[in-house]
Amino acid sequence: MELLKGKTAMVTGGTRGIGYAIVKLYLDNGASVALCGSRQETVDKALQNIKAENPEYASRVIGLCPNLQNPQEVEKAVATVKESFGRLDIMVNNAGVSARGSLYEYKPEEFAGTMALNVNAVFNCAQAAAKVMKEQGGGVILNTSSMVSIYGQPSGVAYPASKFAVNGLTKSLARELGRDNIRVNAVAPGVIRTDMVASLPDEVIKPLIATIPLGRVGEPEDVANAFLYLASDMASYVTGEILSVDGAART
Ligand code: NAD
Repeated sequence: MELLKGKTAMVTGGTRGIGYAIVKLYLDNGASVALCGSRQETVDKALQNIKAENPEYASRVIGLCPNLQNPQEVEKAVATVKESFGRLDIMVNNAGVSARGSLYEYKPEEFAGTMALNVNAVFNCAQAAAKVMKEQGGGVILNTSSMVSIYGQPSGVAYPASKFAVNGLTKSLARELGRDNIRVNAVAPGVIRTDMVASLPDEVIKPLIATIPLGRVGEPEDVANAFLYLASDMASYVTGEILSVDGAART
């Protein structure tokens, strides 16, 4: 079943990991997708891989690399999506960075840098997307939060703080934009097998898995499935939710 047939999506952080899985699943479900990344080379590589695997998707996928921290660049990217595909139905704010480190050694610029991408960029993209969505009669904004937005994290405080803010944006924008027929939700992944997790040594990963009730780390596709549901009309009365996809992990 093509749950997103005829819809158009923009996915930030779409070159690898969770974002790449979302891009592929949205394409599989009939959407046209603008895949965004931080560098032209990684965007081109992701596009190349998609087109090599599914040549029939070539007319439904484009790549962009706006500086998400710059509101004008974000507006321009959203305008490009509209020009290319005629509309923007789904904005996925997935790009994010995390950092570990003790409060005692934390540099203010590290804190600000994490906030700039994980929070300010989400605001910029939500604002630019909502303007277009309001005009066209509705849309869906989805944010990538994290398990740490619920439990906190014992180091690298900017990351959990930024994801608590993502939840705040999600819940508040859902209330503000409901009247414009724009739904706003977030997905809070647990430990997901992206590059970072895949490179962890066995002695780190095994004890970690032992704490997860479902007995495994999550796959990017597990998270993408939640993004598919929330983007689709199956979730037509769901807004302001933070959907955990974490195997009940409480790490
Ligand atoms: P990843 O590191 O594999 O990919 C990050 C993506 O963000 C890339 O596509 C990259 O191009 C983009 N990006 C990074 N810096 C950027 C910048 N300055 N400007 C624009 N784009 C930039 O990440 P991932 O693990 O797939 O994480 C994706 C999202 O999921 C993030 O928001 C992350 O916080 C969240 N998350 C991940 C996990 C996990 O276990 N992997 C768990 C919870 C939440």
